[in-house]
Amino acid sequence: MTMMIASFLIGACLASFVTVLAQPMTSLWRRSVCDGCGRPLKWFQMIPVLSSWLLRNRCHHCNHRPSLLYGFVETLTGLMFVLTASVLPLGWPLLITDIFIVIGLHISLWDWRWRQIPINDLALLGGLTILHLMMKGRFPVSSLIMAGLLFFLCVIWRVRGRPFPLASGDWVLLVITAAWLQPETLPAFLSILGGLGLLSAILYQKHYSTPFFPFAPAILLATWICLVF
Ligand SMILES: [Zn+2]
Repeated sequence: MTMMIASFLIGACLASFVTVLAQPMTSLWRRSVCDGCGRPLKWFQMIPVLSSWLLRNRCHHCNHRPSLLYGFVETLTGLMFVLTASVLPLGWPLLITDIFIVIGLHISLWDWRWRQIPINDLALLGGLTILHLMMKGRFPVSSLIMAGLLFFLCVIWRVRGRPFPLASGDWVLLVITAAWLQPETLPAFLSILGGLGLLSAILYQKHYSTPFFPFAPAILLATWICLVF
């Protein structure tokens, strides 16, 4: 029980930290600021999970209410840490999977806001993936299958004379994350990915009027689901 509570708190705090990192032009050593007016937040407005769900403080300068996205992201990450800790034994596999979640969160937030994936994050995730493969003593067969699948799709699209709907960052991310999965999990992964992709497209178009939508959150969440369940 203590382990679960600790996992939730660690996950939620890391998520809170990552949301600050994913904001443009923030210095790590500066306090979090109000999204409305940019004034520093008070300590009780910065408690992960609680501040967003329960307090929902309006800023007393500009009356801006913080986005529910923060509370959602912190709670979700906390729950992901709990589930991961309940499946994986304490040790390297758990640590590496938790780092995967944290890097994935940064990529997701960035893709959600700016619809692009930072190259540094891809390099970091690539390094972590190599570490994971080396520890498991596994060759990334799934990555090769995924790369082949993407190439095949691309050829079909070309034949039909349409531009391929995935951006280059999504390509790389799909090939990297596939390395975490066993080949037999790929069909399940693609089904879950389809569902999550549709969901995020609907959610995104509700908020932003653009024909594009960020695909990275769906890719990373689907990978994690296949890793844990
Ligand atoms: Zn404010």
